[in-house]
Amino acid sequence: MADPKGFLTTTREEPKRRPVDLRLMDWREVYEDFATTKLQKQAGRCMDCGIPFCHQGCPLGNLIPEWNTLTWREDWQQAIERLHATNNFPEFTGTLCPAPCETACVLGINDDPVTIKRVEISIIDRAFDEGWVTPQPPTALTGKKVAVVGSGPSGLAAAQQLTRAGHSVVVLERADKIGGLLRYGIPEFKMEKSRLDRRLDQMRAEGTEFRASVNVGVDMPVAELLGYDAVVLAGGATDWRDLPIPGRELAGIHQAMEFLPPANRVASGELDVSPFDAKGLDVVVIGGGDTGADCVGTSHRQGARSVTQLEIMPKPPETRSDAHPWPTYPMIYRVSSAHEEGGERLYAVNTQEFLGDSDGRVRALKLVEVRNEGGKFVPVPGTERELPAQLVLLAMGFLGPQKEGLLSDLGVELDARGNVARDKAFKTSLDNVFVAGDMGRGQSLIVWAIAEGRSAAAGVDAYLTGRDVLPRPIAPTDRPIA
Ligand SMILES: Cc1cc2nc3c(=O)[nH]c(=O)nc-3n(C[C@H](O)[C@H](O)[C@H](O)COP(=O)(O)OP(=O)(O)OC[C@H]3O[C@@H](n4cnc5c(N)ncnc54)[C@H](O)[C@@H]3O)c2cc1C
Ligand code: SF4
Repeated sequence: MADPKGFLTTTREEPKRRPVDLRLMDWREVYEDFATTKLQKQAGRCMDCGIPFCHQGCPLGNLIPEWNTLTWREDWQQAIERLHATNNFPEFTGTLCPAPCETACVLGINDDPVTIKRVEISIIDRAFDEGWVTPQPPTALTGKKVAVVGSGPSGLAAAQQLTRAGHSVVVLERADKIGGLLRYGIPEFKMEKSRLDRRLDQMRAEGTEFRASVNVGVDMPVAELLGYDAVVLAGGATDWRDLPIPGRELAGIHQAMEFLPPANRVASGELDVSPFDAKGLDVVVIGGGDTGADCVGTSHRQGARSVTQLEIMPKPPETRSDAHPWPTYPMIYRVSSAHEEGGERLYAVNTQEFLGDSDGRVRALKLVEVRNEGGKFVPVPGTERELPAQLVLLAMGFLGPQKEGLLSDLGVELDARGNVARDKAFKTSLDNVFVAGDMGRGQSLIVWAIAEGRSAAAGVDAYLTGRDVLPRPIAPTDRPIA
């Protein structure tokens, strides 16, 4: 145990976010540095529970009390060793994870939970700064060739595990740069891409080959793919939900994943101006989730005149309700960094129609308040109104993986929800084809994608070699604590 009285004497403290007016002028991450002495005290709040529920909350089974204690003792090198033991990419989860470990932390029953995520990012940042994150190439090669389709967190985790296990791994990505949603979906202000690039450097040095601009099923026939000894499908859940209401065809209405990638290219210097720039416009984001929040933060940085985010559900409570007891991940009112930067959030509203101008561009939304009646959202009579908007962004989630092309050409079986079906070893209906991440699970989180990649790699390695040595943090059917 770190500090036996830490949880009694120290209150939870997080690093400050940079001032809003300053951070809106750039794309950099929003948090200021956190003094090591403060971080140690935060790690010292960990009670080293006999039954650490934080482990249960984390799909990776991160060894949280161990690295809290090591951080408290300033044994950073041991801390990163224990952190890497279960997580290939703590810099992704340390910046981006909604931290189900923290909502499961035992201290959270009657106090604020341990700042686990802050400890995690500090350990990996220190390790990179000190040069402790070095390539770990395999000591012997198996002679087996593996193709991973898709370079998001699940594909990268599977590729790193399999490369280190001695297989020759190539990652195929249809975008022109590697990284999946980490590269072109998630904005720079949530995770700077330099974090991704330095991890890719490590993977290249270990022997993983990356081929960008290869759309498998289009640029590469699936027959060629099946020539590999094993294949991991890690193509994500890219089939977005649309809003087919009157006026949807008007110009100025885009999907979040049409809007965010060019914005990220501007932030990285690949593009001068986004074709969907929000400068001077009234922006309405439909969808109250995290993708919507990314659109809010991006619109503000582009200089939008106003930003409004719409959510059909009622405003959630400020604290846990009885419906979401500890240790579940509760539905509560959260203020992300993007929300802190401005804009308005409207709850319990539905969009009935998009209204256009004489040039065929969207000029407003017709909104109505709704109430939940027997599980259905019913309009409240007399509450219809117009909300001005020259740019509308749809952020209403994803329906599953894209079916045409890769999946239809392969002919893999799908499950009842339209995701790629797999057995307990993450193997699809085809003999040498496995699936990991959102493509098999449906839209999820980075921490789940990394866990999926690790478990699928274990399945592939066992299939190729007959041994059973790689970790399997999750089964395909595992779900968050509910
Ligand atoms: C805007 C946005 C923000 C998000 N923010 C967060 C967050 O803050 N925290 C969090 O935990 N989760 C977040 N998520 C969810 C998280 O990003 C995903 O759950 C995660 O990236 C899934 O990883 P994956 O490897 O399964 O797929 P992806 O990251 O989607 O990667 C799949 C890759 O496969 C490629 N691909 C698909 N088909 C082919 C093909 N035929 N040939 C070649 N390549 C192909 C795609 O181009 C893509 O690059 C966010 C999601 C979105 C959309
Ligand atoms: S549940 Fe919280 S207090 Fe207990 S071991 Fe995990 S981080 Fe520490």
